[in-house]
Amino acid sequence: MQVIDSGATFAKTLDSERQAGHGVGLVPPMGYLHQGHLSLIERARQECDVVAVTIFVNPLQFGPTEDLDLYPRDIDGDLSKARSAGAHYVFAPSEAEMYARPPMTEVSVAPLEGVLEGQVRPGHLVGVATVVAKLFAMAGRCRAYFGEKDYQQLVMLRRMASDLSFPVEVVGCPTVRQSDGLALSSRNVRLDSLERRAACVVQEALAVGRSLVISGERRPGTVSRAMAAVVSAEPAASLDYAVVVDPETLGGPSEITGPVRLLVAARIGDVRIIDNVGAEAP
Ligand code: AMP
Repeated sequence: MQVIDSGATFAKTLDSERQAGHGVGLVPPMGYLHQGHLSLIERARQECDVVAVTIFVNPLQFGPTEDLDLYPRDIDGDLSKARSAGAHYVFAPSEAEMYARPPMTEVSVAPLEGVLEGQVRPGHLVGVATVVAKLFAMAGRCRAYFGEKDYQQLVMLRRMASDLSFPVEVVGCPTVRQSDGLALSSRNVRLDSLERRAACVVQEALAVGRSLVISGERRPGTVSRAMAAVVSAEPAASLDYAVVVDPETLGGPSEITGPVRLLVAARIGDVRIIDNVGAEAP
């Protein structure tokens, strides 16, 4: 596995791989890799000839009062995990390398960006779309692997790649969970043992919502309220949102008649837990 810190070298290296006839898989997490990220690398490894992982904690996607400084980092651990999972390249640029000048350009997929996470974390998804656009531009033709765990981000990036004609196929991968169902997240390390238990309320709310949908409840408001009630019953949790949305537009359906996505976000202490599941009307 080769570690690269220059964007120009990264782009040239992947160009040479393609010239040699190799299909490229791109996996772009921020770092502090866990099994969720490794599942993306393993999937890319199955479907592509070479796998490039990028590791960059992107300041553009953190608001002024958010946890950029607290975001966990462990580049040595990340390199050894990426190697074991089968990555061929890790691109780990410095902030100065990624943003030699403060960018004047922002990428905004406005209709998908201003709702849900975009309302709770203004500017976050613009920061994500902007850095991923840069990574796509450097990486060139590839398949890029993202987790369904960050569902809104996945839908937004798929649309961005298509709207801006990036030669990138965005691939969504299932959420990896701990044995009690909590979705793996780099931020989970900041939960104490009481908070860790309380965090399960998010996937419990989703399970309640999903069972209502699959048993024929067609009113989105009823499903949302049932999910919100589960979160509200946990004193350590404070609800950001509990919604039923169209899986592609993220708009709220007036009636549940086909596939929908259920999304719940809550704060446990100072850690945000977000999760989602698909469900379909019978
Ligand atoms: P991040 O942890 O925000 O750097 O996420 C990098 C990528 O890993 C994103 O595409 C996430 O959706 C994905 N990811 C994070 N957690 C999980 C998980 N538990 N299962 C699957 N993918 C995940």
